[in-house]
Amino acid sequence: MLMQTQPTMKASDADEGTPVSVKIRERIRAARKRFNANDNIAQFIEPGELEQLLDEVEQKMKGVLDSLVIDTENDHNTDDTARRVAKMYVNEVFRGRYVQGPSITEFPNVGHLNELMIVGPITVRSACSHHFCPVIGKIWIGVMPNEHTNVIGLSKYARLAEWIMGRPQIQEEAVVQLADLIQEKTQPDGLAIVMEASHYCMAWRGVKDMDSKMINSVMRGVFLKDSTLRREFLSLIPRKA
Ligand SMILES: [Zn+2]
Repeated sequence: MLMQTQPTMKASDADEGTPVSVKIRERIRAARKRFNANDNIAQFIEPGELEQLLDEVEQKMKGVLDSLVIDTENDHNTDDTARRVAKMYVNEVFRGRYVQGPSITEFPNVGHLNELMIVGPITVRSACSHHFCPVIGKIWIGVMPNEHTNVIGLSKYARLAEWIMGRPQIQEEAVVQLADLIQEKTQPDGLAIVMEASHYCMAWRGVKDMDSKMINSVMRGVFLKDSTLRREFLSLIPRKA
């Protein structure tokens, strides 16, 4: 018995010094999965590891503050900044990378709804993958159901959007990820998403343009084929308001 447990203990002792990010990364690589900024990696994180990850990010953030030559020991404004930033990344603004998607109950379309349905504007908050600056805007979702389309509650669209946007994102990729997710959950005949957002990396730095907004869209199924339906959707979203 003792002979068998000893190697296990040695292994866990050796494991002790390995940063938790390395362990998670090794699991993702073993599964041959991608871990880009806007990928969700929740399935590779074991219970309790998110807290360890937060501690690790805090230590690395402390290093960034040191390298910025900020006296975190004597400057009371920044003495807890590393922890606050780590919490903000892991538990708040990038949470959509580290936790499983919201559980959504889908109902069969018993009313046989087959009229264009528009959800929005839903306020979305994200950060750009390039600068980690906020991206804040609105999205509108158009769904063209058929009798087999699953119905989900209106608030659920916002929860799905929050999960997708809660990662460092690229706006064009974010809308495609959201469209894929809604498509998978509801199987509509057509799906349209428009996103309009301010990118703070354009306002705070760079060209320092305070008013520029980026607008992009995805059209799927009947929205691609039927230009009248597409026009109807676009005319019904009060973007200027
Ligand atoms: Zn940017």
